[in-house]
Amino acid sequence: MEKLVFATNNEHKLREIKELLNEEFELLSLDDIGCSEEIPETGPTLEINAAQKSSYIWDRFGMNCFADDTGLEISALNNEPGVYSARYAGEDKSAAANMEKVLEKMAGETNRSAQFRCVISLVIDGREIQFEGVVTGTILSQKHGKDGFGYDPIFMPDGYSQSFAEMTPADKNNISHRGRAVEKLVAYLRNLKH
Ligand code: IMP
Repeated sequence: MEKLVFATNNEHKLREIKELLNEEFELLSLDDIGCSEEIPETGPTLEINAAQKSSYIWDRFGMNCFADDTGLEISALNNEPGVYSARYAGEDKSAAANMEKVLEKMAGETNRSAQFRCVISLVIDGREIQFEGVVTGTILSQKHGKDGFGYDPIFMPDGYSQSFAEMTPADKNNISHRGRAVEKLVAYLRNLKH
């Protein structure tokens, strides 16, 4: 079976993609390949950060690989927090503090439109290709729901009356930025095999 590295140690993301890829690829995490160093993510865009991670693995390990990077882009805040989503309120990467900062900045703002955007960078035999997934929605004025992670409690996807944190994981994955980008990645990988 062909090996493919997913440049993450996030168990949740790994499991999700393993299920979608079935038996066609052997998916390996950073732990699986013995990569314990922190991979730099210093770019000004999601595209550059995702490519930085996938090419790091290709350059050092010579293995086919993909990496993802996601940001919440809020129209009224000039697409902030964007590439800084994980550490918007500081380097301790607290989801609660990040949401507080967004809610404060958005207080009294009537334009509440936002989107999650996920970019996946895949490197196969040294050639890179990217896949994008987007889900549009609105920033709520307070937190709703306890499930999910990151900004889920304050993001309501268009066409729904629940926040991401109030939806089941399956329902969220069906429409989410990452779900959509992964769908494109999997379709591309399947096509390579046939
Ligand atoms: P990452 O690139 O997937 O690590 O995402 C960067 C940051 O974006 C995370 O730390 C979260 O704050 C936020 N984020 C990414 N995906 C989601 C999501 O599905 N829901 C809520 N927040 C998310």
